[in-house]
Amino acid sequence: MPELAEPLARLIAEFKRLPGIGQKSAQRMAFYVLRVQRDDAERLSQAILDVKDKLGLCGRCNNITDGELCSYCSDPNRDDRIICVVEEPHNIIGIETARNFNGRYHVLHGALSPLRGLGPESLKLKGLVERIGQGDAQEVIVATNPTVEGEATAVYLARLLKPLGVRVTRIAMGIPVGSDREFADEVTLSKAMEGRREM
Ligand SMILES: [Zn+2]
Repeated sequence: MPELAEPLARLIAEFKRLPGIGQKSAQRMAFYVLRVQRDDAERLSQAILDVKDKLGLCGRCNNITDGELCSYCSDPNRDDRIICVVEEPHNIIGIETARNFNGRYHVLHGALSPLRGLGPESLKLKGLVERIGQGDAQEVIVATNPTVEGEATAVYLARLLKPLGVRVTRIAMGIPVGSDREFADEVTLSKAMEGRREM
């Protein structure tokens, strides 16, 4: 590789660490940053820092938010009777894209994985149990990923939550096993939600 000035080489190295970015893309991005006005470069670096500094977890559902509650929890037009449980915050985006769910969410920040030593204590479950205890929820839709871990988590949740007096359902598994729901299209997801079954 040709000798590059140290700051440029360092920026290329940082970009290369991003998912899906190889040497060529990293170089293009770094040379782009070199060319732009200082204002533009500052906006980019500030946006990166803000994601780290200004975001936290929603006090109710553990989604990512820049306030006390996330937009789904603070929206008065959503249905308190249905809670959709997902593994990660980005899973919510997929379900929202399907546009046929208007309830609340709960984010576990993980899934059970006995093989990797991840038990129930590694999941954000306490808030969910508390919310059900408050009595508004009638149905919990388990939308964990269609993987071994996601299935194990669904079975665990059904066992944990049904005695609390709620229906527990699982979204239909029309999606190929191993694929992550964020890549599933709108139609597939909306069918998965409609075809949910009792656990
Ligand atoms: Zn929330």
